[in-house]
Amino acid sequence: MDKIEELATALARLPGIGPRQGKRFVFYLLAAPAAERAKLAELIASLGKEVRQCPDCLRFFNESAAALCNYCSDIRRDDALLMLVEKDQDLVAVERAGTYKGRYFVLGGVLTLTGKGAIREKELDATVRRRLAAGLKEVVLALSATNEGEHTADRVRELLAPYRDHVKISVLGRGLATGSELEYSDAETLRAALTNRKET
Ligand SMILES: [Zn+2]
Repeated sequence: MDKIEELATALARLPGIGPRQGKRFVFYLLAAPAAERAKLAELIASLGKEVRQCPDCLRFFNESAAALCNYCSDIRRDDALLMLVEKDQDLVAVERAGTYKGRYFVLGGVLTLTGKGAIREKELDATVRRRLAAGLKEVVLALSATNEGEHTADRVRELLAPYRDHVKISVLGRGLATGSELEYSDAETLRAALTNRKET
């Protein structure tokens, strides 16, 4: 296969990038200094080596020597709380807000109304069981205020139904505007939404 086509096709698989943008990137890279291309290639190659997935919350983290990420290994965090987020970037936004001190689980996606998308259902179940033994009392659904977020929350409620006698489920309170993605919410809004979370 033509090398230009091959790279353009590979880039077009990235989220938000189509075939046209893929090709634009390729021609940008062709015009860029060789060192810039080499650096980019090196950074991509090192991702698999230096970034690991935490076996507990399933987020990606850098400290490759540690078994668990810093949030899962921190004994000062509250085992009674488990927050479910769609993706790693949402967790970063919540941490930036700075009020939440419980544990996390990254669902790894959302479910769309048309039946697309997937979340880590089996892993969620295993995590809730494990966390129950550690004193879990409340699962906080920190999903985006979108249709997909709502739909995903419904599925999570179904999955957690067997545990409802032991665990309450809460959602973020008002403040998060309808249609807004957690990742792009400012710290103040997130703090309010977390403080005003409601049991469902
Ligand atoms: Zn973790």
